[in-house]
Amino acid sequence: MMPKSERIVKTLNVQEEFRNFSCAAQQLNASQSTHRFSFVNHTIKTVNMPKVRHSVNLKSKLTSYISEFKEDGLSTDNKILFCNLCQCAVSSTQKFLVQQHITTSKHQANKQLNSKQRQLFLTQPTTSNVRSEFNIDLCRSLISADIPLYKLKNKVFREFLEKYTQHTIPDESTLRKTYAPSIYDETIQKIRDEIKDSSIWVSIDETPDKEGRLVGNVVIGLLSEQYSERILLHCDVLEKCNNKTIVKLFNEAMGILWPKGIMKR
Ligand SMILES: [Zn+2]
Repeated sequence: MMPKSERIVKTLNVQEEFRNFSCAAQQLNASQSTHRFSFVNHTIKTVNMPKVRHSVNLKSKLTSYISEFKEDGLSTDNKILFCNLCQCAVSSTQKFLVQQHITTSKHQANKQLNSKQRQLFLTQPTTSNVRSEFNIDLCRSLISADIPLYKLKNKVFREFLEKYTQHTIPDESTLRKTYAPSIYDETIQKIRDEIKDSSIWVSIDETPDKEGRLVGNVVIGLLSEQYSERILLHCDVLEKCNNKTIVKLFNEAMGILWPKGIMKR
């Protein structure tokens, strides 16, 4: 974004991912994606799902789909049908919709990958644990290497990863939604552990990014006689750049560092 950012810690990337997430979420109009979100994040209740009137009938219908297509990695919470191979919700109002999902090339490819994985990882306890650990490692390494998560949309890159890792590669949005926030929290916690209640210096600067947005950055460091690492603690898009927005940015940053209250001497 800015040449300055190259000199400071990688938190910028995580925060960027974080900020972009809300934009990305808005862009996801496909109902399948909405379903996936609603499943992954239990706080959002099955947004686009039809109202459940006959819960018993629905339950038995979903269970029958699972046993009928038992080779296809489906599961249910008795409300929606979920494909564990593709990590998405499957429309289940009509049987042909389930069949339709199962015949998609994406599902077939994931099925093939999964069976290979199972042969490779027979000794592993559950494939889902393996998968989520894989996802978080993937997310962490992409962010750490300054590789934007959307690069996972690149077909050749994706195929390369799938071929040599023998893992189903998650969607960019899955990483952004489920894994990037925990890496952000991890990074912030590391910063808190390093700073503790020491005195710090704070430097705030605003720079327009290439899209003309005013991005305010808060860089901090330990106030000591020895050299201390510069840490990018917070960045945010500012509506305007004036004393008011900068003070707000400062307060936000201190709130991130010391959530229990700003320490003053
Ligand atoms: Zn599937």
